[in-house]
Amino acid sequence: MTVLWAKLVWCLGVIGWLAIRYPHDRRSRRTPKRLRSDRARDRVLLTISATGMLIVPAIYVLTGWPQVADYRFRPALASLGAVVFASSLCLFYRTHRDLGRNWSVTLEIRDRHVLVSSGVYRYVRHPMYSAFWLWALAQALLLPNWIAGPAGLVGFGTLFFLRIGREEELMVETFGDEYRRYMARTSRIVPGIY
Ligand code: SAH
Repeated sequence: MTVLWAKLVWCLGVIGWLAIRYPHDRRSRRTPKRLRSDRARDRVLLTISATGMLIVPAIYVLTGWPQVADYRFRPALASLGAVVFASSLCLFYRTHRDLGRNWSVTLEIRDRHVLVSSGVYRYVRHPMYSAFWLWALAQALLLPNWIAGPAGLVGFGTLFFLRIGREEELMVETFGDEYRRYMARTSRIVPGIY
């Protein structure tokens, strides 16, 4: 693995993610919504996350900036990053398939929203966020730069920690004890740990 290959793997990972998400995004726009959480706040968090996971690394991959933050490239770490990115995409694919029409970019409840607790949702209650954490980790392993590498962990971490409590509140409001029981038997993102 060379730096160029590592950057290419990052690009392919992002393209793969866009391809997985595209059909769900189109359908989601057409699905009627019943309840919407604070949209402005959600948009700010999504922008912070996209800056860390897409904009900063894309600038680095395309221009090499900020070069001052480069460190020595380690092929073994980058290869691990490629494996982690691939597993993140597999998990994305599964979560989108399992969540189906209940998925949305911002926090909202659809018409005829159902609580999904099967498929990958049997093991953790936020597997799509697990997939985003894997992507952010892969980015840190692939890009040998102290800013572009960890930017995804910082960007997505901000969205995750400022959203997760509100998302679970929204689910409890909507599904009541059904969601409380689901919470009691599942972890958030890593089975049995967190
Ligand atoms: N946090 C989940 C889903 C992210 S998509 C995950 O990481 O997999 C965000 C939307 O999914 C929210 O608007 C919420 O309404 C919906 N959602 C979250 N968990 C859900 C579940 N178990 N079943 C159905 N919808 C869910």
